[in-house]
Amino acid sequence: MPFTKLNLGPNFLRGVQAMGYTEPTPIQLRAIPAVLSGKDLIASAQTGTGKTAAFALPILTMLGIHKKEGPRVLVLEPTRELAAQVETAFRDFGRFSDIRATVLHGGVGYGRQRSELRAGTDIVVATPGRLMDFLQEGELRLNSLQTLVLDEVDRMLDMGFIHDVKRIIGKCPTKRQTLFFSATVPPEIAAVASFALKDPVRVEIGASRTITTSVTHAIYQVHQEQKFELLLALLAAIDFNSVLIFSRTKHGADRIARRLREANHSVAVLHANRSQNQRIEALEGFRSGRYEVMVATDIAARGIDVAGVSHVINYDVPENPEDYVHRIGRTGRAQAVGDAFTLSTPENNSDVRAIERFIGQEIPRLKLEGFGYKSASDYPARPAQQQRRGGGGGGGGGRPSRPSVPHPRGKPGAHWGRR
Ligand code: AMP
Repeated sequence: MPFTKLNLGPNFLRGVQAMGYTEPTPIQLRAIPAVLSGKDLIASAQTGTGKTAAFALPILTMLGIHKKEGPRVLVLEPTRELAAQVETAFRDFGRFSDIRATVLHGGVGYGRQRSELRAGTDIVVATPGRLMDFLQEGELRLNSLQTLVLDEVDRMLDMGFIHDVKRIIGKCPTKRQTLFFSATVPPEIAAVASFALKDPVRVEIGASRTITTSVTHAIYQVHQEQKFELLLALLAAIDFNSVLIFSRTKHGADRIARRLREANHSVAVLHANRSQNQRIEALEGFRSGRYEVMVATDIAARGIDVAGVSHVINYDVPENPEDYVHRIGRTGRAQAVGDAFTLSTPENNSDVRAIERFIGQEIPRLKLEGFGYKSASDYPARPAQQQRRGGGGGGGGGRPSRPSVPHPRGKPGAHWGRR
């Protein structure tokens, strides 16, 4: 079904078209009519499914035009990056209307946020801490609120925002529409949902355990001391537009970035110790292509939305299996096709097994042809003559084949290493 059949306001349909979207994603197909009907919604959907547009488009349609009465929509997000991205999405979809959106998050001064609130806004996208500050100051009132969106609730809980979130819900009018998004809904999240929602429509799009089908992923086994060397060799062998590299620690991220710069890569870094301005500079530089590589930690990278990330490389195996799914979800977003590689040392074997149990599948083991593995006997050799996938990969066109990096989806039997 095309977007035109979803009863969206004409201005916002133009906004969607200007974004280049042609077909709604499954969550958009299911959530947009539910939201337009005015009902509460609980959706378990991971980022990368198109969930932002699934709530932003019907919300904009219901708002219609700018009104002076104060914010009618509040969206809560766990991180500054997500808040900024969601506000940008509202502005993008709403660019042919006069609707105003404002983002409130920590890490920057209050002045600009305060003056935007005073000028009058329709949509507030906020992280809980900064929102509480404005509520306590009396600078923001929620009495005109019609719709409350709680996004990435599982991550808000992880980050310790549960009390703020409950206090904020308590300050919203009881007569409102509430939309609730969480990749997983374990019992403590179900408790928040029952506190916040009335008779919700339920939408479940994939579980957080599923790897987006447009992503191919593989493990490269290597000894610790050769990890960086292998990373450089992989970067030289793959044909990439933009690569997101994950490190477990902030120090590790800085170290990887420094060494990559020494090897003449243009590199941005994103982690919690960086200032808001540094983060914005990193994200914008990565988005615009000024940096070909971004090195990030998990929390900082959660929800990063950069169209066209062609590869994700886990320099470190994530400790938390769920983070594997989130990391891999940074590539292959929506209709794109992306590759994800994990560098794994013998010490990581049990973490890798935990990930495989979590996602319910074995991750193919690959070896980089021509790389001087220090102890080749540790890892099974891969038969020769592997081919990278040809042009029929469904949307990944434009990247020439580089046979030196086998493709995990090409012909599995031909190149998966035995374990
Ligand atoms: P989200 O899950 O909201 O973070 O969206 C993931 C990515 O998919 C973003 O880059 C969106 O711009 C993109 N996207 C969302 N919906 C569509 C669509 N219907 N067609 C193409 N791209 C989309």
